[in-house]
Amino acid sequence: MKIKLLIVSLSIFNLAFAQKTKETALSALDAKSEKYGEIAQEIWGYAEMGYQETKSSSLLQTTLKEEGFKISTGIAEIPTAFVAEYGSGYPVIAILGEFDALPGLSQQAIPEKKSAGKVAGHACGHHLFGTASSAAAIAVKDWMKANKQSGTIRFYGCPAEEGGGAKVYMSREGLFDDVDVALHWHPSSQNAASAAAALANISAKFRFYGVSAHAAGAPEMGRSSLDAVEAMNVMVNMMREHIPQEARIHYVITDGGKAPNVVPDFAEVYYYARHNRRDVVRGIFERIVKAAEGAALGTETTMKYEIVNGVHELLPNLTLQKLVHTNLTKIGGFNYTEQEKEFGNKIAISLGQDELNEKRALEVQPYKETARAYGSTDVGDVSFVVPTVGFGTATWVPGTPAHSWQAVAAGGTSIGNKGMMVAAKTLTATAIDLFSNQDLIKKATTEFEERRGKGFIYKPLLGDRAPALDYRK
Ligand SMILES: [Zn+2]
Repeated sequence: MKIKLLIVSLSIFNLAFAQKTKETALSALDAKSEKYGEIAQEIWGYAEMGYQETKSSSLLQTTLKEEGFKISTGIAEIPTAFVAEYGSGYPVIAILGEFDALPGLSQQAIPEKKSAGKVAGHACGHHLFGTASSAAAIAVKDWMKANKQSGTIRFYGCPAEEGGGAKVYMSREGLFDDVDVALHWHPSSQNAASAAAALANISAKFRFYGVSAHAAGAPEMGRSSLDAVEAMNVMVNMMREHIPQEARIHYVITDGGKAPNVVPDFAEVYYYARHNRRDVVRGIFERIVKAAEGAALGTETTMKYEIVNGVHELLPNLTLQKLVHTNLTKIGGFNYTEQEKEFGNKIAISLGQDELNEKRALEVQPYKETARAYGSTDVGDVSFVVPTVGFGTATWVPGTPAHSWQAVAAGGTSIGNKGMMVAAKTLTATAIDLFSNQDLIKKATTEFEERRGKGFIYKPLLGDRAPALDYRK
């Protein structure tokens, strides 16, 4: 009887201890929010584009190294990609982080459209993404240390999410193969941990080579590569009628010749094909290639194409999604200060709203299991290699779309920092839960294997190409 009582009281003690340390981990994050805010704003100021994020990547590496993480750099043949690791053995929990900015979206941290005079801006909030994920990895490490918890916590520094697809190369390289669960998040204009969806996507540049000639003096001598681009686009535009209606195809002519009086001997068109199933995307892409071949034949030019990027759709994991939703709900959003309200109001008006809906930043959206996909992400590939879960927090003024000047502006203020800390705490709480209750990992893995299907083999949509390190040049 006495022994039984002792066991009962010991387990109560253990529970209380674990509870206390999870709370401690979260309040330790609160205490360091100023430090992490400074790091995020430093990266916001760097505003480095995909695969050029030298300073951003190294700042995060230094931050993690100072905390005792072992750093591996230049992984998957990408100079700005890295993994920071603490601990050893099972389970391995990964937290993904990004840090690339978007071209042409330079903006000051003010509520009116005004460039900061740079070539790029953090219009997708990846400066907050990378910093919150690093902060969470550090908080989890401290918790593991205090509790002598076995297992591994890893931060994955993932460059060039915007079109460069580093996570695809990292997945192809097998860098996630021993990971049990991958956690990520994304800046947003609301707090939500519903199941997300994303479109599989293949992007490629089609290059046509013709013959130059004087466009008036000797047009019969020329073969126009621009004609080929236009012929290809006409064919693809006709094809739209004969593809699944949820599919998306978009293109821009990146080179259409230099002068009207010269028959262009070179032209280039950059295509995206998307659908919520990667096999459909593969099929559509093959037909786009046929249109390009036909255009080359008909215009007597030659064609070569380069697949720039290819990402899988997102594979949801509801076991993990519910856990994250519970944690995000417990942690909750945040209130705006008077100064933030003034800023937020001006942004809201610029977005065509009557006034700031500040409640959105405070509350957490109800949990939903079905989602419509609007964009694509290279997290998709990770989600097919390891059980993966994500969520969003209100780092932007409610109603702000991603890739807007308003997103850059709010991301450069305390609003961005506050939303970022909600994310850091949610990631931390979730990782601690997974270490503490490893049955959850088993359940998530079973669900993952069922959803992926028997005999699944991971085949990247971008094939065997080397990382497109110069895609922003
Ligand atoms: Zn993004």
